[in-house]
Amino acid sequence: MNKETGKFPLLEVRGVKKYFPIKKGFFNKVVGQIKAVDDVSFELFSGECLGLVGESGSGKTTVGRTILRALKPTAGEVIFQINGKSYDLASIENQELRPLRRHMQMIFQDPYSSLNPRMTVAEIIGEPLLVNGMINNSEREIIICDLLEQVGLKTEHLRRYPHAFSGGQRQRIGIARALALKPKLIVADEPVSALDVSVQAQVLNLLQDLQSAFKLTYLFIAHDLSVVGHISDRIAVMYAGRLVELGPAREIMTKPNHPYTEALLEAVPMPDPKSKPDRQLLSGEVADPSNLPTGCVFHPRCPKVEERCRVDRPDLREISPGNFSRCHLS
Ligand code: SF4
Repeated sequence: MNKETGKFPLLEVRGVKKYFPIKKGFFNKVVGQIKAVDDVSFELFSGECLGLVGESGSGKTTVGRTILRALKPTAGEVIFQINGKSYDLASIENQELRPLRRHMQMIFQDPYSSLNPRMTVAEIIGEPLLVNGMINNSEREIIICDLLEQVGLKTEHLRRYPHAFSGGQRQRIGIARALALKPKLIVADEPVSALDVSVQAQVLNLLQDLQSAFKLTYLFIAHDLSVVGHISDRIAVMYAGRLVELGPAREIMTKPNHPYTEALLEAVPMPDPKSKPDRQLLSGEVADPSNLPTGCVFHPRCPKVEERCRVDRPDLREISPGNFSRCHLS
């Protein structure tokens, strides 16, 4: 249970790993592993929004896909609590998983390629209802019209195809489709990063409104810490497949503990970049998950690196109630 809010976890991710084998040669011999996600653990409390942030290649999308079992984890448990029962999504058989899928949905990054261009808006939003046995057309259309209204579109849009809409409107259609089955958990993977800045705030506000209207729990994945900070209750920061910091959003955004989180904050776009000319932007690339550095995996890029960081790998430690950091200096 969350001591601050008194809420119970809807989802418990325990020691999840996702490795992809590197195969070579005529016999496809496994010569190494890409450790895309390595021993990630966190809880997602009912009704909260947990932001998962990190640069491209940090493993955050793989975490989201692994939770929803679009990818089978190499190790670990994903405990999902629904209707008074708990299920380990990491090991559950496909047959048992199928009825649970309606309770967890994904909102995708690219509103242009995630919608079938040959289907009308009514067909796109109504498909999950149809697949789940709602065959009565008028019953389905009532729900579709209601969903359209909830996401800020009109019933006159029902018979149109995706190409007739702007990026923001397409994302609203994708959101309506994700909500059709009244899920409990939404994994939103970079839901606003393909949109114009002016539209991003509108979609973020919509997601917040829908969270309270539908009593949703969000795992909100993004690379931009300012976007994540806008919507999240807590934030988990990922680097090279591991969590490096986890804590309440207001503290992560104002007093980060880990040098990587500090660097992500420095990288947040500013209206006038000249107002802070001494910004220390992160250099170099995210560590190669098939060949991680010794010691702290962030040490080749860390502005605060010390000698021990090159040899001792820090653990994720609770440094104050609810605040976790993976750094020798925290
Ligand atoms: Fe930087 Fe050392 Fe902390 Fe790693 S352990 S983040 S290298 S200071």
